[in-house]
Amino acid sequence: MRLALFVRLGFVLLIAALVAFQVLFVSESREAAASIEAERVLRAARATEALEAELVRRLDVGEARIEALETLPLLEEEGLLWVRGGVQWLPRVAELGPRDEAVESLCLAPLPDPLPFRGEGIFRHWPFLSRKAAAQCCVRLQRLEPRNEALARACQRGLAGERVEVSARETPRLEGRWVVVQRGDDVRGVEVKLDEVLTAVAQKLHAQATLEEGDSVESFSRVEGLGVGLRLVSPRLDARSQTLSRALTWKTVLLAFTALLGLGVVWLTRLAERRREETLSLQREFIATVSHELRTPLAAIRVLAETLERKLPEGGPAKDYPQRLVNAADGLTFLVDNILSFNRIESGRLTPKREPFTWTVLQSWLENDARLSLDVPVEVQCEGLDTLPARDADAELLKVLVLNLLRNAWKYGVRRPVRFQVRGELLQNDVVLRFTDNGPGIPAESQERIFEAFHRLPTVGNSAASTGGSGLGLALARRIAELHGGTLRVAHSTSEGSTFELRLR
Ligand code: ADP
Repeated sequence: MRLALFVRLGFVLLIAALVAFQVLFVSESREAAASIEAERVLRAARATEALEAELVRRLDVGEARIEALETLPLLEEEGLLWVRGGVQWLPRVAELGPRDEAVESLCLAPLPDPLPFRGEGIFRHWPFLSRKAAAQCCVRLQRLEPRNEALARACQRGLAGERVEVSARETPRLEGRWVVVQRGDDVRGVEVKLDEVLTAVAQKLHAQATLEEGDSVESFSRVEGLGVGLRLVSPRLDARSQTLSRALTWKTVLLAFTALLGLGVVWLTRLAERRREETLSLQREFIATVSHELRTPLAAIRVLAETLERKLPEGGPAKDYPQRLVNAADGLTFLVDNILSFNRIESGRLTPKREPFTWTVLQSWLENDARLSLDVPVEVQCEGLDTLPARDADAELLKVLVLNLLRNAWKYGVRRPVRFQVRGELLQNDVVLRFTDNGPGIPAESQERIFEAFHRLPTVGNSAASTGGSGLGLALARRIAELHGGTLRVAHSTSEGSTFELRLR
């Protein structure tokens, strides 16, 4: 029963430990996942910074080009956006602004009217010309400067250009394919191919080891900054996260398996305990039946021996044989009674009677029993019994208790005569009885074990096996003391003798 209790307690502790481990593993895993996520966010933030820096750099270059184009309109203007006062100058688009009738009429006038400006001059009026007038002027200017390729290209693009719709702020911002900024009355911008910029930025970050091998970035739009953010795609970080969650899964499985094992042990122990209980109860039943069956023939032997004793002539050849037979039958009956009582106590079938008990009766019990010892002279001495107050107790059981102590004294006693002394006193309202013999003593390390059922000691000059006994006497005596709410222990023991102390509340 105790083992099952320990195993159950162990199981509860095991489950508590496993839960603690699981909590620890989960929090560890969360921390590691958070650090991976932080790493991912950090790298993405660095990449975003690098991208923004690159876009701003390109815008700066673009703004410088726009400023140069203000004075030199034929410089390369592709990929630039410039709107001044709501008028789109770059990319060049004709037919957008309010018409410049004067220049238009010059462009559309029949040849050979001369033009008042040279090649690039036309672009100072471009937004204010109709497409037709702009085209006509270009034709005329190219005739004048047939080798001016820059003029030809600018005219071609100017006639194909379209209106760009962007809303700029004072800080640079990505609007569609343009990085734009508002500078006073001007909106300036530069065209970017985001994919290309991203590739260039990623290469740079790989070279600086900000990105690991296999890492890539993908863009998403956001509100703050330039309006573009980068998300990191990192197979290595993904692999680390996966390893982490796999490790947690395995640890969880392992803990669950351990819990199952624990459960299995509890179940097996319960099963074993039940089997043991069953076997024990069968054993008890068997012992009870056998002991019971022994009582009748023992009683018959006793009666016959007594009859024989009466009928045989005194001093005859049969000497004291009948008396010995009676004693042997009594000794065996005592043993059988011990076994039966122990069995009943162990199976919980014995409830002690509670009747007022006066202690002086012990003396007659002990003296009568001591007389049964034929081979060994036994002297019983009682003191203080008459000073003890009566207590509610089961007289039958107390008799079994004290006779077991007496019989042990004469069974294991090595000195002659065997002396058995009983001293009674009242201590703090407890009835305390001390039983002292002049036997060989009990080794200190065995003074508790002798109260275990079936535990016997090899005795000095006389093995326990050779003295009759079952190892139940003291176990039974202690159970009886406990049934009365008391205790029984070895209070003192030397090679000169032992003292057993019975204390009843
Ligand atoms: P049993 O007497 O049937 O063997 P007990 O339970 O009465 O069983 O005693 C257990 C053991 O304790 C005995 O085998 C014996 O070795 C030891 N013992 C008991 N009483 C005494 C005693 N008074 N003096 C010395 N040894 C004792």
